Amino acid sequence: MLSAVGKRCCQRAGLSAAKVQIRNLSIHEYRSSQLLRDYGVGTPRGEAATTPEGALKAAQDLKTDKLVIKAQALTGGRGKGYFDTGLKSGVHMISKPEEAEKLASQMLHHRLITKQSGAKGKPVSAVYIVERVNAIQESYLSILMDRSTKKVLIICSSEGGMNIEEVAKEKPDAIKKFYITPSEGVTPEVAKKIGAALGFSKEAQPEAADTVKKLYKIFTERDATQIEINPLSEIAGDPHHKVMCMDAKFGFDDNASFRQQEIYSWRDISQEDPDEVIAKKAGLNFVKLQGNIGCLVNGAGLAMATMDVIKLYGGDPANFLDCGGGATPETIKKAFELILSNKKVDAIFVNIFGGIVRCDYVAEGLVNASKELGVTVPIVARLQGTKLEEGQKIIEESGLKIYSFEELDPAAERAVELANAHKAGKV
Ligand code: GDP
Ligand code: MN
Repeated sequence: MLSAVGKRCCQRAGLSAAKVQIRNLSIHEYRSSQLLRDYGVGTPRGEAATTPEGALKAAQDLKTDKLVIKAQALTGGRGKGYFDTGLKSGVHMISKPEEAEKLASQMLHHRLITKQSGAKGKPVSAVYIVERVNAIQESYLSILMDRSTKKVLIICSSEGGMNIEEVAKEKPDAIKKFYITPSEGVTPEVAKKIGAALGFSKEAQPEAADTVKKLYKIFTERDATQIEINPLSEIAGDPHHKVMCMDAKFGFDDNASFRQQEIYSWRDISQEDPDEVIAKKAGLNFVKLQGNIGCLVNGAGLAMATMDVIKLYGGDPANFLDCGGGATPETIKKAFELILSNKKVDAIFVNIFGGIVRCDYVAEGLVNASKELGVTVPIVARLQGTKLEEGQKIIEESGLKIYSFEELDPAAERAVELANAHKAGKV
């Protein structure tokens, strides 16, 4: 449920999905490569390591001096990225195992900053050492879900590699699209057309078509939301493959995690936002956003409505937070901690509907959390439902400056006013 809700809530709040983390599992390249191999897809031989000594051994095991070392961090554009230490590029061509050891010590546990990683970059949790194959053509292929046509969309281009974004902008004709009807899958005809559109030589096209079919099989069998192969290369001089996936980016649907346990066991939480990891553990549905009004709501629908109303009054939510049916004093405190860990927050808007959960219980949680955490930003609490009066009484008697409301509109309006005032240093 997380992914769908997160996505929808952000769209409703007028935010582009790119600005927030969508709950789709990403896996490291070395895991993706193993998955590809399991389906018989060509990929360079390789081995991952988490220590410099391991990197040396991995490089030696490959028994070749034509090697590539690749930083494993869940972000794209590694080749053109740089490290927080100043080291350039997360992908290095090397020719001695000792170089793998040295570069691994410079990459591991440092942060790699790329165009896609955000300013802080991503920590490098492993390195992947692969044999350097002779790529004579670099193409691009991705498989995605297309909502508007309700079909699977395969995008490909003969101009793959590290500049695909520029190709898309400057030469849109070089990008070809193929819509796949789920009941038909990738037919031999379509596979052949895609094989040709990739710009490979005649000799490599049958394997390219076969690769497309296999990738589509992975996409459907493994509940992927996205597969991106860039580059998908034509290889010269390899005894087994004329086509290889040189890099792979996978996304998997969180709704399917129960039946994709192997893939979900590959989750690397060091790559995720620590606050969102804490939230998930506490059973809170939490997505960080860019505004300054912290929200604490029970129910995903109400949480979305709350964000809409904040927007309507000219405010901007700092997060989406649905504490579900579990609005206990403990979860409220955890939620407050998460909201306040964001230093940009200028007000907290609590919108709880007391159905199963009672307002007096929620009020008690609110009062305790504000006292224990020494909250200094204004809190607006809109409570409704069971034991409302008792709840209001608890808030009043606490002596804390919690602004209590029964209706949503005036509460949201006040929250926006107070956030603006706090930002201007007036409250
Ligand atoms: P990204 O920058 O995160 O997309 O990382 P990639 O894994 O795509 O690596 C960046 C680039 O390195 C690729 O686009 C290739 O051009 C190049 N590359 C990676 N592995 C090999 C290899 O085995 N042989 C050759 N010739 N080039 C490689
Ligand atoms: Mn790539």
